[in-house]
Amino acid sequence: MSSEAIIEHRRGVGGGLAFVVCGPSGAGKNSVIERVMEVIPGFSYSVSFTTRPRRSDEVDGRDYHFITDKQFTELVENDEVVEHVTYLGHKYGTSRAQIKEVFAEGKDVILNIDVNGAKKLMDRGLNDFSIVYVFLTPSSLEILGTRLRERGTETEKQMQARLAVAAKEMKSMPLFEYLVINDDLDTAVDELRAIVVAERCRIIAAND
Ligand code: 5GP
Repeated sequence: MSSEAIIEHRRGVGGGLAFVVCGPSGAGKNSVIERVMEVIPGFSYSVSFTTRPRRSDEVDGRDYHFITDKQFTELVENDEVVEHVTYLGHKYGTSRAQIKEVFAEGKDVILNIDVNGAKKLMDRGLNDFSIVYVFLTPSSLEILGTRLRERGTETEKQMQARLAVAAKEMKSMPLFEYLVINDDLDTAVDELRAIVVAERCRIIAAND
């Protein structure tokens, strides 16, 4: 790629980067992502499909597209999700159409997904688009437990199940390119912001 083309690419905000932010439930992914999107332009949040019941503070179409099992099966059959998983009995999947749309607008996308979904993307990729893999977690499972308890969106039993999954997910951390430790929200926001800025400044690989 020529120097002119590289500069031309950088003139737009960038566009075509997918930031996959993974980490155990209760890690604070939503709060960190929300704050980073407030301070950095040129982003869209990938709103996933899920069959999980909506929590009282969630808005359909903003947090998730809440759909039925039957609708989810149809999406998968029609290849309308780029990856999908079953997490503690509910299905979650990333919309192919939305990601395509975001890239067509010249923006980057942030995906908030679980470790198994990230592993699928590591195997398959996203056509020609670059994916940046970020693992976000508090520094210990104890802190995670306290956060989940404080959040109060799950029953004790559901919370224990989430913590068991979290312990497994932590083991996959070495597969990721970046680690953001979220013990302090401001620090975590600053670190994710720095990763985004650095990745946008990266000279994209020559392909001609
Ligand atoms: P929650 O029920 O707490 O909203 O989400 C449970 C887990 O599913 C979280 O780790 C979240 O990041 C993950 N998740 C949300 N949407 C998707 C998705 O589209 N694909 C995958 N693989 N995981 C998702």
